[in-house]
Parts: sequence; structure tokens; C-alpha cells
Amino acid sequence: SEPLLKVEGLKKHFVSQKGFSKSSKQVVKAVDGISFDIKPGETFGLVGESGCGKSTTGRMIMRMLEETEGTITFDGQRMDQLSGRELKKARKDFQMIFQDPYASLNPRMTVRDIIAEPLIVHEMETENGIDARVYELLDTVGLPRKVAGRYPHEFSGGQRQRIGIARALAVRPKLIIADEPVSALDVSIQSQVLNLLKDLQDEFDLTYLFIAHDLSVVDFISDRIGVMYLGKLVEVGDRESIIQNPQHPYTRALLSAVPVPDPRAKRERIVLEGDLPSPSNPPSGCPFHTRCPFAWERCVNETPQLQTAETTGHTAACHLLD
Ligand code: SF4
Ligand code: MG
Repeated sequence: SEPLLKVEGLKKHFVSQKGFSKSSKQVVKAVDGISFDIKPGETFGLVGESGCGKSTTGRMIMRMLEETEGTITFDGQRMDQLSGRELKKARKDFQMIFQDPYASLNPRMTVRDIIAEPLIVHEMETENGIDARVYELLDTVGLPRKVAGRYPHEFSGGQRQRIGIARALAVRPKLIIADEPVSALDVSIQSQVLNLLKDLQDEFDLTYLFIAHDLSVVDFISDRIGVMYLGKLVEVGDRESIIQNPQHPYTRALLSAVPVPDPRAKRERIVLEGDLPSPSNPPSGCPFHTRCPFAWERCVNETPQLQTAETTGHTAACHLLD
């Protein structure tokens, strides 16, 4: 089937002042030419360390940020070509769930008003229909109806995230961009919220772009995975293929940091040296070469392109694949 979301050559470069001299501008290549598709009903997990460009990508798709280059096609429409009115109409088809359910819910609004707000903005319910729809949404996310009159501070993190999910679902979106939706929650609550997201996907035919730094979370929820490093996708493929047979040393390092439940299961240990380099001064050649235990001279001089690994059929950007 046709992809619901198609991202092609997407870039976001921020120009910022370096120091006090007017002449020294620096360019931060937060997102530097990424392409991927998401099919209807699929979950695409975008994973990488904080600062790799995942959230910036999500915010461009949400139209909270304008791309420097490249295109985003949603449901057959080029997002950059929509008029203001068309964009307002399209907006209800993609909604976001944020990392911090504490910061993303207005503390002065009741749960009812928080969930009702997008219904009013998009004129999707009559004044009389709103309460019934809010109750229905509370049922859907597993919260009792009596919470409608309460305020966000009266809830736990997991409950607040359920409120955020109800709000996102209110306008019956096609695509949900979830940016680190469980990383602020206790581990025991994380799986409840992830399972809720999975159930809702089946029930409402939702498509997810799921952004997280934690590969085990992305593994749990995704159909396909894209691994980002310094603004670039370094490995993309089916979840199982990536987890069972990672090709890029960075993916292998992320995987080796995930605890294996069965202690007999052998997994190679790749420990990353050094810090994530600054995206304003990325390394030459392969952006990962400063931390890669396998790097050799070619890696310093030549940037590897995404290519299909013959053994697995998914793509990775590493000279070791040659
Ligand atoms: Fe490591 Fe070289 Fe592959 Fe980059 S291209 S990931 S530095 S082996
Ligand atoms: Mg982020």
C-alpha cells in the first residue's frame, strides 16, 4: 500500500551565533538528509541518543518547525505546499504525544477541557456532544469518568500520559507522533502505556511514528526501526532484522547496552567511547568514526551511504558492508 507518510531528503540546519563576534556563525545540522516511509497501520520507531535529531524530525512533520530542505508527504499531500487553511484541516489527521505529561498539559485546565480543546478547535463536536465524547475518550484510555473535573496535578505520570493520549485521539487522527512518551515514567508504568498504545492502534487503525532513545522500548512497539546518529539515519529496516542482525556498529552498541533476559544468550559487548560529537562540528567521513571500535582510514575520509546488506535485506550506512 501507499505510505501514509513519506519523508524525503529532510534537513534542518539551524544557524546560530558563535561567541560574540557577528561574523562567526555556526551551522548546526540537526537533521541532515533523512528519508523514510511509514505505511498505514505501521509503527516506525526512530531511535538514537538525545541530540541526534529525532525530536526535530517529529516537529517538522508536525509543522511546528519548517524544514531547511527535503519534503514531507502526508496522505498524498506535500506538507510545504498546503495553504494555511488546508494545513489547519490536515492538522487534525496528525497529533502528537509528548515526553513530559507534566509540562504538556495546561495545569489550569480541567481534564474535560484539556481533552475537549482539540474538538473545539477543529469544530468536531457540538457543544452538547462534547461531554459524551470526553467520557468516551476517558473510557478508551482506561480512566474513570469522574476524573473529568479534576486538574492535571492530581494525577500520576502514567495517568497524565493517558490524558495526553485521550487528547491526541479526540480528533480521530491517522498518524500519531509519540516523542519519548514513556521515558519520564517508571519502568512498571511504561509497559502499561506501551500496551495501551498498541491496543489503540488496532482499535483505531492508527499509524505511529514512535521516537525514543531506549532501544528496548522501540523494539517492543515497532514494526520497523530507523536508527539515527548525528542527524542521519544509519540503519533502517524491519524490527526483527535490526534486532536479530544489526549491521551498523552504532546499532550494535545500542543493543549491547540493553540487558538480555537470558544470561546464557551471548551478545557482543560494544562500549561506546567518548561523547556524542557536536552537530555543529560533525566528524569527517563516517559521522560515527570517532566512537567506532572498527573505524579505519577510509571511515575518516569517506562518508558511507545507506546500502542494502545482502545477508539481511535491510539498509545500513557502514563501509563494513562492502
Ligand atoms: Fe565504523 Fe567505519 Fe562503519 Fe563508520 S563506516 S560505522 S567508522 S566501520
Ligand atoms: Mg528528543
